[in-house]
Amino acid sequence: MSTTILEERKSQIHRAGAGPIDLACNRESLAGAVSQRACVFCGSRVVLYPIADALHLVHGPIGCAAYTWDIRGALSSGPELHRLSFSTDLRERDVIFGGERKLAAALEELVQRHRPKAAFVYSTCIVGLIGDDLKAVCRAAAARTGIPVIAVQSEGFKGNKRAGYLAACKAMFELVGTGDTAGIDPASVNIFGDFNLAGETWIIRDYLRRMGVEVVANVTGDGRVDDIRRCHGAALNLVQCSGATLELARMMQEKYGTSYLRVSYVGIEDMADSLYRTAEFFQNSDPGILVRTQALVRSELVKILPELSRLRRDLEGRKAAVYVGGAFKAFSLIKAFRHLGMQVAIVGSQTGTPEDYEELAAISDPGTIIVDDANPLELSEFIKEKGVDIFVGGIKERPIAYKLGIGFCDHNHERKIAMEGFVGMLNFGLEVHRSVTSPVWRFMPRRAADSADRSKEVEAC
Ligand code: SF4
Repeated sequence: MSTTILEERKSQIHRAGAGPIDLACNRESLAGAVSQRACVFCGSRVVLYPIADALHLVHGPIGCAAYTWDIRGALSSGPELHRLSFSTDLRERDVIFGGERKLAAALEELVQRHRPKAAFVYSTCIVGLIGDDLKAVCRAAAARTGIPVIAVQSEGFKGNKRAGYLAACKAMFELVGTGDTAGIDPASVNIFGDFNLAGETWIIRDYLRRMGVEVVANVTGDGRVDDIRRCHGAALNLVQCSGATLELARMMQEKYGTSYLRVSYVGIEDMADSLYRTAEFFQNSDPGILVRTQALVRSELVKILPELSRLRRDLEGRKAAVYVGGAFKAFSLIKAFRHLGMQVAIVGSQTGTPEDYEELAAISDPGTIIVDDANPLELSEFIKEKGVDIFVGGIKERPIAYKLGIGFCDHNHERKIAMEGFVGMLNFGLEVHRSVTSPVWRFMPRRAADSADRSKEVEAC
């Protein structure tokens, strides 16, 4: 392993096939290693942000709010209050004398002005340090305004991004169970862990509608406070992005007995598998659901398979690197790339668990580098070593790819093209094809040298 890899980081890197995987993961980032991870506050913010009719107030310095301003760009079919970001803009004076009065005044003014269905108040590092009693201020504001005002205990320093997911789940759990469940169909689900960045939640809702399944709440893409309040009336929770919302599903199972399934809507196999498992869950009460689901999957596949075969002809043998927030997406992306004839040579996540990495090792090709909580230097080193053609990641990975002269595919906050569902697989294939086969990479010095080497090898053959 190269000298770029710090000694203390080596236990978080594994090569598939090199013995059993025992990755040190789900722990604090190494100080000074410049982790790609976000803080606890950001973790909770990204989960709750798409709840479109709620007020999102960041109690902290303006930098915390700016950092997560409109962070997901999640689409809403109605109100768009979520796209405004509010901050109490704590200054030195507030740090010395406390920020509770400022917070109470901000809540009063914002609720009056925007009439939200609920308010989420996010705690940041400095609030944890000065000890503002967020819960007390929120309780008083709820009593005054008559709407739920929920403290999100997301002090940035108190753990890693996963702790932020948990804080978000705890905040939402305060809403669950407070709404009327009358009229909910027995064949009903909640969509957990899809954030509707480019309309994906709408695609999945349409599939479920065609199967005859009612969706009670989107948690949280295109989310609504009133839906979340009554979502305990659904028969099943479909949990995608397990890191972000699995804890909420567990809490609901414990308190309301709601079953959950872990699903993924990325790629052909996982999309179809998620629909079939949902259908099986309801087939006792609705014997026709399996047939309807088969017809749905067939009709969607017929539309995309010929085009995918065409893309595969150009992409066969190319390599990809995948670095994502939660590991669930990585599983699906490995399979999706196989459909395109490509191999994932590097795969990693910010928040994977030991079980996630075991599964990744099991489905990866021998030699694949598996990495937890990586940093830019490591990722650059791996990309150069493996000679990958495209990097799939989020906003923080994009500059790494471009600096190294390889294609990039945004599978995170910034994308504007739906990449879930069957149609999403085709969109993904088209984007990968466009990026990987673009002639622009020939003009990058490193890639040009690689191409020249490859030509020599071909001539030698
Ligand atoms: S909560 Fe803390 S770590 Fe997160 S953005 Fe604010 S200051 Fe930075």
